[in-house]
Amino acid sequence: MATELMYLNDFDVLTGAARVQSVSVDDDGRTDVVLDRTCFYPRGGGQDWDTGAIRGAAGEFAVEEVRLDPEGMVHHLGNGPIAVGDEVSLAVDTTRRVMNTRLHSAGHVVDLAVERLGLPWVPGKGAHYPHMSFVEYNAALAPEETEATLVRIQQAARDVVGAGSTNEIRFMPVSEMGDYCRNVPDNIPTNKPARIVLYSDDFGVPCGGTHVRDVSDIGTLTITKIKSKKGVTKVSYAVEGIN
Ligand SMILES: [Zn+2]
Repeated sequence: MATELMYLNDFDVLTGAARVQSVSVDDDGRTDVVLDRTCFYPRGGGQDWDTGAIRGAAGEFAVEEVRLDPEGMVHHLGNGPIAVGDEVSLAVDTTRRVMNTRLHSAGHVVDLAVERLGLPWVPGKGAHYPHMSFVEYNAALAPEETEATLVRIQQAARDVVGAGSTNEIRFMPVSEMGDYCRNVPDNIPTNKPARIVLYSDDFGVPCGGTHVRDVSDIGTLTITKIKSKKGVTKVSYAVEGIN
């Protein structure tokens, strides 16, 4: 049965209670724990997984990696005493989560900046890791326009962050997302509830990742590089204090 994803419902669910559904050993010899519900984010959508601790009567299980399988079950991989049926308390590593959330939300603000500037770029893949943060677009950009475009996107993104705005979570069928989102990818995962997050009141993004509650929580966003080749333009960025 699919794991209930507590982190989808609110911006900062970092603790909670759950029951252990299964315990097995993965190919690397690590313990693989499935719970009925979890606040641990599994890697996905370019955002890295959470780490932290699962505590029960037997002691503490250290969560080193978290994965979502095609059936919607979340696998907590790590080490420590734990058994099926245990009532456990969950604690996500807050520092790591907040960092990943700010980086991920910054990627969406880059998207928002691109839209604000009226650039007809179609978003492609993105990565929001400390060692690699970028958003790619199906768009061509002439070399002589690169520097000026970088400056414009950075300014527009900083304007969004500077203005601040509370994000909003909405669950809806994929068929309705087009009313709120400029781009609805045709590969939205079907193994978790469909959800959009509304940035700056009118910019919806279909996304199951974790997001800042207010865009001002991102901090100073810098566009570090824009590279365009073969019709793909890659916008790399950094968030102050992270990367
Ligand atoms: Zn996202």
